[in-house]
Amino acid sequence: MIYLDNNATTAPDPRVGEAMLPLLGHEFGNPSSPHAAGRVARGALERARAQVGAFLGAKADAVVFTSGGTESINTAVRGALAAQPEKRHIVTSAIEHSATKNLCQQLAREGCEVTWLPVDSGGRLDYAAYLQALRPDTAIVTMVWANNETGVLLPIEAMARAAAERRIVFHADAVQAAGKVVIDLETVPVHLLSVSAHKFHGPKGVGALFVRSGLGLPPLLRGGGQEGGRRAGTENVPGIAGLGVAAELAGAAFPLEMARVAGMRDAFESGVRARFPDARFHGDPACRLPNTTNFALPGRDAQGLLAGLDRLGVACSIGSACTSGEVDASHVLRAMGVGDEEARSSLRFSFSRLNPGEDVQAALAALEQAAARLRGDGLGH
Ligand SMILES: *Cc1c(COP(=O)(O)O)cnc(C)c1O
Repeated sequence: MIYLDNNATTAPDPRVGEAMLPLLGHEFGNPSSPHAAGRVARGALERARAQVGAFLGAKADAVVFTSGGTESINTAVRGALAAQPEKRHIVTSAIEHSATKNLCQQLAREGCEVTWLPVDSGGRLDYAAYLQALRPDTAIVTMVWANNETGVLLPIEAMARAAAERRIVFHADAVQAAGKVVIDLETVPVHLLSVSAHKFHGPKGVGALFVRSGLGLPPLLRGGGQEGGRRAGTENVPGIAGLGVAAELAGAAFPLEMARVAGMRDAFESGVRARFPDARFHGDPACRLPNTTNFALPGRDAQGLLAGLDRLGVACSIGSACTSGEVDASHVLRAMGVGDEEARSSLRFSFSRLNPGEDVQAALAALEQAAARLRGDGLGH
């Protein structure tokens, strides 16, 4: 299999599984227990906290473990609203992951006012419009650092600084950015930041929320006093240990491995251009993740191409995984002004450090074959 769907999820690094195994077996203690078994689990938890902190340029005690990106985002946004009951305005973008998009739509139904900042045809956010959207009653700004469908990066550092100057809480959804661009929370003044292990070669169902010290953030669920009262429930110790190792490995692989990944992605794009002169690439090429490409092959049905590529052993995606299966065009491409027909002919390929260089030519050959078959049978499947 040639796996080019790394923005949906990544293969765990073998060292991640190795670190988790003892904790799934004989090292089964509860980290809250004051005995030997508990202390072993507590040790694993605190080691992972230090690893994730180092990965983000943050103090270990600012790291709260969660069940993944979605929970971190919900905790950040609902927590900021709960902590400031007099403020009911939220600022976000039109190109958020569905985790944020559906949460903010729900909060609008619950009486919040949401400002959805538009983007241009390259997926770029209008910074002047952003500054205008910030108000005294803004409870939180929540912005995706890197969009999962196109890889386009938002100017998080400048946006966070502008929010901080106005004493507005800023949350960055760094689920897709982590491990692919530098994240240094000593210099980027976000208050809250979400990451998820399975997007950088860790296990699924575990992530972290960075909470800057001094920010009082009520927990999403009420229960025990785990995670310093910031996230109730017995911790997923094996998953958290896997997250810690994945964070350390991602930090060590950067920037050399990301330069190699960018080389593969760029070679793939050149190959697509050579084979399909009418291909239309989505997203500002000057400001995006090193691993992602998203393009339309006009007149060809992306679902048919995906199915053809799947039969040839190549995994990619149409739009984002969370919206596959829906007939609607992706809300991200629509926000960039891409028409429904072009959106329905758009594919996303996302590379990672675990892809060997040979994958580029093999995927290009498969894409050419899948497109030829699509044309040949005329049925789209
Ligand atoms: C995958 C993803 C999420 C959701 O993370 P989960 O851990 O799968 O809940 C949120 N935001 C972005 C940008 C993502 O790519």
